[in-house]
Amino acid sequence: MTLTILFAPGDALWNNYRAPLIDALDAAGLNAVLTREADPETVDYIVYAPGSALTDFSPFTRCCAVLNLWAGVERIVGNPTLHQPLCRMVDPALTQGMVEYVTGHVLRYHLGLDDHITRQDGVWRPEAPPLASQRQVAMLGLGALGQTCARALAGLGFAVDGWARTARTVPGVTCHAGPEGLQNVLSRAEIVVTLLPRTPGTENLLDADRLSLLPRGARLINPGRGHLIDDDALLAVLDSGQVAHATLDVFRMEPLPAEHPFWAHPRVTVTPHIAAETRPHSAAQVIVDNIVRGQAGQPFVHRVDPATGY
Ligand code: NAP
Repeated sequence: MTLTILFAPGDALWNNYRAPLIDALDAAGLNAVLTREADPETVDYIVYAPGSALTDFSPFTRCCAVLNLWAGVERIVGNPTLHQPLCRMVDPALTQGMVEYVTGHVLRYHLGLDDHITRQDGVWRPEAPPLASQRQVAMLGLGALGQTCARALAGLGFAVDGWARTARTVPGVTCHAGPEGLQNVLSRAEIVVTLLPRTPGTENLLDADRLSLLPRGARLINPGRGHLIDDDALLAVLDSGQVAHATLDVFRMEPLPAEHPFWAHPRVTVTPHIAAETRPHSAAQVIVDNIVRGQAGQPFVHRVDPATGY
């Protein structure tokens, strides 16, 4: 039997993913056609990305799974026509990229690198930073990305608190859960990293009340989703100095409009959603591994739970 795999994203992704997907399908010994057009009733799997023209999944009656190229699924998980299993992307290369982004920015804050770069004023200030073990870092989200980043930071010696919806165990990381856990984590965090998905439960998680729990001078790094933080509340704590600096990679509106106050704020670094991206060769392998599992009757990995939205 020949499998029909519909590639739903647009031209740019097709150009990047076509060859790696075909190579991975061949290597797995799957007899499959990768196509951009097919009679919906003949499609076995759909490769998907946000922004794909495909929005009605109901005609795909024999489709075994929709395989998302991105880690975030907020733009598809609530689609009422989606009756097929949805799997999100957990790509080792994307995870590595996130570890590099997070550790880089945590070290930047920890070592006070900005001061040395911007303050070349002829004044000798022999003030060494504390060791990482004296620096309290909070990781909000202990999933595929948060957990790996938390481990990497703990490996560098940081004192890491982790927080998730359910109780987790991560070596080297003090784990917390629930509203009280969040309160405890925030109230001692010198550097906060947010790696949570966008769901109704995480919308505006860091609002004025929660931001006010942070010790004065805390730093914030958000490579998760813009909706996790109340923008106005963040601007207020940045203006007051309660939060000394924020590095933001994701925004409620992307691209971040040129007139948005984050761009000009002296205490904000904007990065344009580049913390970590899916890499075609490793991601193609993840997609094909899931197709192999589906064909063998095994459960899909990285399956999204529609009830939690991630
Ligand atoms: P994941 O494996 O699904 O992990 C999500 C984590 O968030 C889990 O630990 C989960 O808790 C926790 N969580 C979810 N809802 C929560 C709630 N209401 N309260 C407390 N904790 C909650 O996701 P991931 O692969 O680590 O990715 C995280 C996010 O990073 C993605 O959703 C995406 O938005 C973002 N991302 C950004 C970029 C970028 O370039 N900036 C790239 C990739 C991904 P449990 O452990 O209890 O389930």
